Amino acid sequence: MLLIDPLVEPPNVHLDLPGSKSITNRALIASALASGTSELSGVLFSEDTHVMIDSLRKMGVAISLNTDSSSASVLGAGGALKGPSETLWVHQSGTTARFCLPLAALCGVEVEIDGDEQIKSRPHRELCEALESLGVQIEYLGAPYTFPLRVNGENLKGGQVTLRGEISSQFVSAVLLAAPCFPEELEIIVEGDLVSSPYVDMTIAVMRSFGADITRISDKRYAVAPTGYSNASYLIEPDASAASYFFAAAAVSGGTITIDGLGSQSIQGDIAFLDVLEEMGAEVVRSATSLSVTGTSSFSGVDVSMATMSDTVPTLAAIAPLASGPTTIRDISFIAKKESDRLGALVSELGKVGIDAEKTETGIIIHPGDPQKATVHTYDDHRIAMAFSILGLMSSGITLDSPQCVAKTFPTFFDVLDQVRAAGDAKLRVLAIDGPAGSGKSTLAKKVAEQLDLSYLDTGAMYRSVAAVALSESAELDDEAKIAAIADRIVIRFDGESVDVDGEDLTETIRGPQVNAAVSQVAANPGVRSVMRRQQRTWARIRGGGVLEGRDIGSVVFPQARLKVYVTATPEERARRRSLESGRTVEDITEEILQRDTKDSTRGDSPLVADQDAVVIDTTGKTIQETADYIEKLFLR
Ligand code: C5P
Repeated sequence: MLLIDPLVEPPNVHLDLPGSKSITNRALIASALASGTSELSGVLFSEDTHVMIDSLRKMGVAISLNTDSSSASVLGAGGALKGPSETLWVHQSGTTARFCLPLAALCGVEVEIDGDEQIKSRPHRELCEALESLGVQIEYLGAPYTFPLRVNGENLKGGQVTLRGEISSQFVSAVLLAAPCFPEELEIIVEGDLVSSPYVDMTIAVMRSFGADITRISDKRYAVAPTGYSNASYLIEPDASAASYFFAAAAVSGGTITIDGLGSQSIQGDIAFLDVLEEMGAEVVRSATSLSVTGTSSFSGVDVSMATMSDTVPTLAAIAPLASGPTTIRDISFIAKKESDRLGALVSELGKVGIDAEKTETGIIIHPGDPQKATVHTYDDHRIAMAFSILGLMSSGITLDSPQCVAKTFPTFFDVLDQVRAAGDAKLRVLAIDGPAGSGKSTLAKKVAEQLDLSYLDTGAMYRSVAAVALSESAELDDEAKIAAIADRIVIRFDGESVDVDGEDLTETIRGPQVNAAVSQVAANPGVRSVMRRQQRTWARIRGGGVLEGRDIGSVVFPQARLKVYVTATPEERARRRSLESGRTVEDITEEILQRDTKDSTRGDSPLVADQDAVVIDTTGKTIQETADYIEKLFLR
């Protein structure tokens, strides 16, 4: 569950968004099939791209990843993919499921592919039939034309193939991507309308960057020469579908949001969402290197066909209630077969927040209204979760029942959303106190909070609580997803000195030796940190501020805090203080806190550092009262 904190100030921010999922997956495939090593930058690391990376690795492609620099180095197989020794598991990733079918055929041996229930209920028939017409044998291990299935491409040939385009453009993209590695030239003919046609243009653009030879005979007829791919250095653009949420946020809040690195020449069709916002009254500025939206006092309804940008339908539907008139979205019946029945989901969840919306023959109409407090069901669909988060910025009391589904394409979504709230957060009376273990910051933070009449939050106790629950459930601490899910699930409450987790008093447990030994590993888990940051920010927003004490409060949680203090003391002094508190020997404690300091300062996500704006205070030899008075003075200055 996640209650979306409303926006209190219009944003004025530049955002760096993660790379496009669609381009990342296409570039991974082209480089996997190329000869030589390709260097990809701006790579999106999310569930859907990890699924693609795992599948390509299983087919013999060497991929090394650098998450810190969002880059990947891919040693291509030169078209000769290997038969995987185990089933390719595509989870819920539609792109991976569809794109891997022809790739599996390139292995020339039997390849089994399976995935989660959600993927089995999505359509794949046209793609399967097209591959069968090219000599690929497919054995359906469950229901026909879906997963699990076994592909054998030993008799794969080129020639001509016909595909229907009304259901998903991914069928066309899937065949196109593999085609340069077919034994002969392939001509692809699209029958009927082609939905989401910009995605096919994107596929062709990426393929050409890796040396593929594609002739566009007409809009619905392409010829691909059997040249294979060449390696390349390729920069992936930020994700335009992800950008739609922030463009929408600017349009409805009257603020300005600029997305850097995404320009008017983008190969992503979803940048056309800007035209829709412009028609509704927003101001849009397009340059070659950035796109920017400013909300104005007028925000009217719109009547629009979204067949070519259907991933942005939930974004528009979620902000449409705030327009002055009704909004009609047309030509998108096919989105009923996405991660969820998106049309049904939108009508039902808008209804829950008190908004009148109805399905039409090809789309949806949304009427203006005043959104009410409600818990929105996300259907495990990342786009429903992200879209309703934007409505949640503009109203109070919107809660998402399963926010973690954003990880499919945008694991850092809620952190970026917090950047949209930065102007409001800067007005909070936040005092950030960071420092290493035993520096005296807890005692100090409590004292200063009392003197300033602010609430106090011990963020270390939050990480300790997650560690305590993980230990009690015997969870493997290096199973990052599992530990992050614990952080997301548990409810931590503070009452004076006591800490209650899901109704159980863990005050003693979280200070025990087992938790001491485990907490730094738990705290280095980016999924855990993301959940904790969100909770800490909400805690302060509800109270109008507070004293937050930890390791990354001034550097990451509240970089715009009114005052940032970094408290330290010599290791001997820190160990002496802890020894007095706990009765353990100074040697024992020195060893433990130094180990913890090393882990905390060297982790990749939010390492312990004194922020450049922080006032550094060495408390060695000073009394608590002296330091507290000094901090109070600085805060009130
Ligand atoms: O402050 P305390 O010693 O209770 O914190 C326990 C641990 O929690 C730290 O060693 C650190 O690993 C983690 N922590 C953190 N970020 C915070 C607070 C604590 O990583 N803001």
